Order: sequence, then C-alpha cells, then structure tokens
Amino acid sequence: MKDYFFTDARLLGLIGHPIKHTFSPFIHNKTSELLGDNTLYLPFDVAPSNLKDALAGFVALGVRGVNVTTPHKEAIIPLLHYVSEEAGAIGSVNTVVNEVGKLSGHNTDSAGIIESLEPYRSEIVGNGAVVVGAGGAARAAVYTLIRRFNPSRIFIVNRTKQRAEYLKDHFAASSDFDRIEARELTPPDLLDVFAESKLIVNATTVGMWPHADDAVMFREEAFDEDQIVFDMVYNPLNTKLTQLAERSGARAINGLPMLLAQAAKSYELWTGAKMPVAEVETALKERLASGA
Ligand code: NAP
Repeated sequence: MKDYFFTDARLLGLIGHPIKHTFSPFIHNKTSELLGDNTLYLPFDVAPSNLKDALAGFVALGVRGVNVTTPHKEAIIPLLHYVSEEAGAIGSVNTVVNEVGKLSGHNTDSAGIIESLEPYRSEIVGNGAVVVGAGGAARAAVYTLIRRFNPSRIFIVNRTKQRAEYLKDHFAASSDFDRIEARELTPPDLLDVFAESKLIVNATTVGMWPHADDAVMFREEAFDEDQIVFDMVYNPLNTKLTQLAERSGARAINGLPMLLAQAAKSYELWTGAKMPVAEVETALKERLASGA
C-alpha cells in the first residue's frame, strides 16, 4: 500500500458523466504501483454544468491531469489554454495536462488506434474502410485512417445520420481527403458498406457492458475471411461483433490494445514515465478473469 500522505503525491483522474464501469483507475493505479511512483488516479463524475468549475478546482488543487470521457470530450476544448494539433484536428480531447495552472488538451486515442491497426497496415492502405459511430472515438478513427493509413474510401455510418454528415464535413474541410461517405445506421446500408470494406471499425457503445448481447451487425454473411474487424469496445473483451466476425473467418481486434496504448500515452504526458504495458495487461486480464 502506498503512502498517500506524502506531500509529493501526484493526483490524476478521469472526468465523465455518468462515470460507468471504467478500467482506467485500475490501469493507472497499477502502473503507479509497478513503477513505485506516488500517484493516485480517481474517477470524478462531473455533470456538464460543472465542467468549468471542475477544471478550476483541478487547477486550484494542483491535480496533475485527467482523462476526459463522454460527454465532455468536445465541450472541454474552449475551456483549455492550449490544444494539441492532433486533438484540434480530431475535435476531441481525452487527456488534459495541468502545467502549473495552464491546461493543455491532447488526444491519445489516435495512438491507441495506430497500435491496434499497424499490424494490418499493408491491407488497409488503398482499400475501403467503414467506421460505425460518429462520437469522439469515431472522430479519432477517421483522423487516424486519413493521416496514417490512406484507405481508398471511408464510410462513416451512424444512427444519427446528421452526426455522420457533420464528421464528413469536418474532415473534408480540415484535410485533403475527400473520399468520405456518410450513411445512416440501417441494416441494408451497413451490409452494403461492409461488403465494400476491408476494415470495419465499431466506434459505437453498442455491445458494451451491460448490453453485451447487442451488436451493430448480427448477420454472419456480412463478414468474410479477407476482412479485419476492430471493435473498440473493451468491456467485454470478446464482444458479440468480434465473435461473429471470427466465426465468419475475419480477423478480429478487440479494444484492449487501444485501451492500453492510449492510457500509456496519457500516463507519459502526465508523468514523463513509460507505462509497463505488458505487466499492466497481465494484471488487468487476471483481474477480469477473477470477475472482481
Ligand atoms: P460517444 O462520443 O458517446 O459516441 C457514441 C456513439 O455510439 C455515437 O455514434 C452513437 O450514435 C452511438 N450509439 C450509442 N448507442 C447506440 C445504439 N443503441 N445504436 C446505434 N448507435 C449507438 O462515445 P465514444 O467516446 O465515441 O465511445 C464509443 C465507443 O468506443 C465506446 O464503446 C467506448 O468504450 C469505445 N472506446 C474505446 C476506447 C479504447 O481505448 N478501446 C477508447 C475510446 C472509446 P448517435 O450519434 O446516434 O448517438
């Protein structure tokens, strides 16, 4: 047990609303334990109306940094002193660093997406990709695909089509990539775009605990053995979507490598220290297996 009474303790956290089941406190506190540094990571449930005050409170209390989750990832941008080029281009902040009262915003989801997709680079480049979702994670996925993987075309498919259109317009205006199509999340549209895509990314909350029996697609014929299916959902690790994809012979990537890589980059931004990712992954899997 660490001694949190030391005056040099560093406080980190996560802000969102509501704060549901999150693995981030485990990942960061385990990292701190493994590295032996005096850091504590806590979840804070911050309602949108309290966001500005919460940031002022973090500055006043000397909180070193926080992760940011739904619904604050976009709304927080105008409240920060500085936003990294990457977070600005994505339009979403998931990490805030407090530099002696000046708050900077970063997006480490892109690093997590690169970590997950890099082994498949040669297959993704020049082929079609579909991103299902239009929230913060989808923004990071579209940005990363454009910047790092140059697919032939990106379909953005979302329940609320307007948000998919908004994302399309955002990236059309902020990059020279003009091969984006926005579609509504309906079964026929999804079958069409899956058929034209080498890479399928689920960046929605569909299939997440406690609704683990849900999936954006239930039809096995929607997948084939040439496809790569990346489900960002990490709880459960093996979602309905990845199970279905694997049954169809497709290669499935779960949300764990992204979760760990984005956390490692945030930890490094706050502390300068490298997360011992393999050891944290082992500890997290043991924890999940124990059902605790
Ligand atoms: P978000 O900003 O709240 O966006 C949620 C997205 O899910 C929206 O596109 C929303 O569509 C869609 N959605 C929600 N309920 C739906 C339903 N019943 N049917 C169809 N679509 C639905 O969330 P986010 O931050 O982008 O996160 C999205 C997912 O990525 C979550 O599962 C999250 O855990 C995961 N994620 C994983 C990592 C990782 O490290 N592995 C990192 C970030 C996020 P509407 O626009 O129509 O509401």
